[in-house]
Amino acid sequence: MGWRESLGDDRRIVPGRSCGDCTACCVWLRIDELDKPPGVPCRNLAPGGGCGIHPDRPEVCRRFFCHWMTDPELGDDWRPDRAGFLIAADRGRMRLNVVPDPDRPDAWEAAPWRDTLRGWAMEGFFEGLLVIVSVGGQARAVLPDREEPLGTLTKGSRVSTTMEMDAGGAPRFGVRVEPPEAED
Ligand code: SF4
Ligand code: SF4
Repeated sequence: MGWRESLGDDRRIVPGRSCGDCTACCVWLRIDELDKPPGVPCRNLAPGGGCGIHPDRPEVCRRFFCHWMTDPELGDDWRPDRAGFLIAADRGRMRLNVVPDPDRPDAWEAAPWRDTLRGWAMEGFFEGLLVIVSVGGQARAVLPDREEPLGTLTKGSRVSTTMEMDAGGAPRFGVRVEPPEAED
């Protein structure tokens, strides 16, 4: 399974796939347009699940589908409410934001999830793929061989991968964070 297969139209849903009982994105994500903090159910979430204002939901909700919804390589165990984390792809799918269930913040570290995320980080490393896990406002980059703490990322923080060779000629994967570019 990989991330390349879902390059392209972010709104391409895998045929036959639906959210089912999952409401993860309506609870776990921060949604500025709805003034919704992370980890709190959206006020429009219906008691039995589903959006209570579906026909009139904001554009940000219409456009959002988690990575599981759009990557045919990911099986049903990747559905966010089952896996314990969701993946929101942005920047043309060159950045995978891993958002854990607040009640299971370490779920992604279990097998096979972490190894798969590290595998994607390796597969896409030289193309600049970023895999970033955020828990409680603290970000970590998933690199091919480890995780690297990034602290708090502010809007516009520029994150990029780096690689150096150590004295023995072995690659040392890294990540660099730069502050947002100042506006004129
Ligand atoms: S996290 Fe994905 S599967 Fe779950 S409700 Fe949102 S879009 Fe649907
Ligand atoms: S408005 Fe509807 S789709 Fe959007 S977060 Fe709230 S419940 Fe979910």
